[in-house]
Amino acid sequence: MHFLVKRPTRHLETQRRSAETDCTGAEAMAISGAMSDCLFCKIGSGEIPGDKVFDDGELFAIRDIHPMAPVHVLVIPYRHVETILDFDEDGQRLVGRAFLAAAEIARREGIAETGYRVVANCNRDGGQTVFHVHFHVLGGRAMKWPPG
Ligand code: 5GP
Ligand code: ZN
Repeated sequence: MHFLVKRPTRHLETQRRSAETDCTGAEAMAISGAMSDCLFCKIGSGEIPGDKVFDDGELFAIRDIHPMAPVHVLVIPYRHVETILDFDEDGQRLVGRAFLAAAEIARREGIAETGYRVVANCNRDGGQTVFHVHFHVLGGRAMKWPPG
C-alpha cells in the first residue's frame, strides 16, 4: 500500500522523514503516529474506505456522513492530533494549511462567494465526537448565529 508518500516532510521531524519512502500500512502508521483505533486515521490510511474530495498529502477531506448543510466537508490532517488543544509548534502551519484547504474546497463546491463556515469542535462542551482534529466546512445555506 502506498500512502504518506505524498506528504511533504520538509517541516516534520526527522522520525517521520522515513515515511517518505514506500512502506507497509503498519509501518507507515507507526511512523506517522497514527492511532490504530482512530476512525480518521483509518480513513486517512485507506483501512476504512472514504471518498477523499481533497488531498494535499498532509490533509485530506471527506464529506460528513451526517451532513448538517448542503455542503459539509471535513478537513482532516493525516497526522493524529486529538484535539485543537494538542497542537505542537507545527500546528500553526497545519492549521493555516487547513484553512487554505477549506477555501479551496469552498471554491470547488461553489460556496465561496455565498459564504461558508469553518468549525472545530473541542471536547465535551464543544461537541467533539471524533478525537482526531478536523475542521468542518459548512455551506450552501445561511448559517445561524449564535450557533446551537
Ligand atoms: P465532531 O462531532 O467530532 O466535531 O465531528 C465528527 C464528525 O464526523 C461528525 O459530524 C460525524 O457526522 C462525522 N463522522 C462520524 N463518523 C464518520 C464516518 O465514518 N465517515 C464520515 N465521512 N464522517 C463521519
Ligand atoms: Zn487519528
